[in-house]
Amino acid sequence: MNTYEILIIGAGPAGLTAAWEANKHGLKTLILEGDKEVGGISRTVERNGWRFDIGGHRFFTKVDEVYEIWDEILEKEDFLLRPRMSRIYYKNKFYDYPLKASNALLNLGIIEAIRCVLSYFYVRIRPPKNQDNFENWVAARFGWRLYNIFFKTYTEKVWGVDATSIGADWASQRIKNLSLMKAILNAFQINKSGEIITTLIDKFKYPKYGPGMMWETAYKKLLDQGHEINLSSRVLEISKNDDHYLVSTKEGEIYKAKNILSSMPLAHLPKTIKPEPIDRVKSSGENLKFRDFLSVALVIKEEDAFPDNWIYIHEPDVKVGRVQNYGSWSPFMVKEGKTCLGLEYFVNIGDELWSMDDENLISLATEELEKLSLIKKNSALEGYVVRMPKAYPVYDLNYSENISNIEEWLKEEHLNIYPIGRNGMHRYNNQDHSMMTAVKSVRNIILGETNDIWKINVEEDYHEEINTGRSAPVQKE
Ligand SMILES: Cc1cc2nc3c(=O)[nH]c(=O)nc-3n(C[C@H](O)[C@H](O)[C@H](O)COP(=O)(O)OP(=O)(O)OC[C@H]3O[C@@H](n4cnc5c(N)ncnc54)[C@H](O)[C@@H]3O)c2cc1C
Repeated sequence: MNTYEILIIGAGPAGLTAAWEANKHGLKTLILEGDKEVGGISRTVERNGWRFDIGGHRFFTKVDEVYEIWDEILEKEDFLLRPRMSRIYYKNKFYDYPLKASNALLNLGIIEAIRCVLSYFYVRIRPPKNQDNFENWVAARFGWRLYNIFFKTYTEKVWGVDATSIGADWASQRIKNLSLMKAILNAFQINKSGEIITTLIDKFKYPKYGPGMMWETAYKKLLDQGHEINLSSRVLEISKNDDHYLVSTKEGEIYKAKNILSSMPLAHLPKTIKPEPIDRVKSSGENLKFRDFLSVALVIKEEDAFPDNWIYIHEPDVKVGRVQNYGSWSPFMVKEGKTCLGLEYFVNIGDELWSMDDENLISLATEELEKLSLIKKNSALEGYVVRMPKAYPVYDLNYSENISNIEEWLKEEHLNIYPIGRNGMHRYNNQDHSMMTAVKSVRNIILGETNDIWKINVEEDYHEEINTGRSAPVQKE
């Protein structure tokens, strides 16, 4: 049996980037991917000629190395620079997003605006005592009224639980450096040093045919370079032998490897790796939770659509959390004269929405868009449903202890297993974080570097967005 120096689990952004990096050092890898296609959550789905993402995927990063990799993979003309427009919909009004002062004041009205300011001063004097949870943490920094308008409903839709049971970590990781003062300065488009904020986040890169194009291209180029990439090859067991691991798949194959880069869920490693870990580690794996996702894509005439790339739906009366307009992401994703709207629902496997049949989901999505007046009656022409399990690693009150238990066990007993990527490290991240964890792990193996993968991102000072911002790595020199 061939012994692979590096075996990679998962052909999403993390796994494919790991192979890409190994290739630069002259090493060929084996990737095992459980699904029939590559790209992971960053794939592009195609149905009847319509292309859409699992939620819109912007290609934006502060790490030059990541742009370099994207530019190596895709031809220049295929990597578009796209304008961004997004708004928040709340109580029949559209708020520009990022917030703009004049628009926010106009929508709130002067009385509500004064109430928000008073509510802010109130929490400065009487901050909530326990700031361990998301609700109290945010309210303490923005006041209760702003919290209720701009944070509560959307956050609860995304996570499907009361905001008091979400750890403050989740908020602090993405809102860390943002205070009300900064938000107001941002709203006037001024930053700390008084400069007008650059247009960086007003534009973003996006592959002509969606994010999947990036990862399908990487896949083809890696195959051409001599890497082995096995699709429909789901890893079920990893057993430790003297100086190597045996990796078995559901499909009955067995592979031998010295080092394993794993982007399969960190939560699954304790039950996958043999010998089994102690109970504390096993239950940590079982207790790491996920939120699942489904998207209903509706085709409508282009003239009937809104101009935004996406709209956050803070309205509590509908279940949809966000609506994408894929024609605004890239005109190449849609057909002449028509566009495709993607309604995003945050769900749990087995719940009412997850189990609803596609036809009823399409009707529900159509009704909700009509109710929100985002489309006219009877304007939806076709509909498609895509379900994505484990789209979001959940940050509950115990997640970080659970991660630490697994991390500690791996560091003590499995130094040659490298968790990488989003679910691979149970990190609510962006592609760039997944990619950098892969690059640095490969360098640890091949170049003997000593990068601490768990620290990538920890000292970040950049947060993409208030509500939905995902971790983005900032590299310390
Ligand atoms: C709604 C939404 C919107 C997003 N928007 C953006 C955005 O705008 N910009 C951005 O940069 N990022 C965005 N992201 C994040 C982005 O999708 C992830 O950061 C990225 O896909 C993570 O890559 P990954 O390779 O770490 O994991 P994944 O994409 O999850 O890939 C992991 C792969 O491993 C495979 N796998 C799992 N278990 C096994 C197993 N046992 N055996 C074999 N294979 C296995 C899976 O099938 C999958 O293909 C968004 C995410 C969501 C959910």
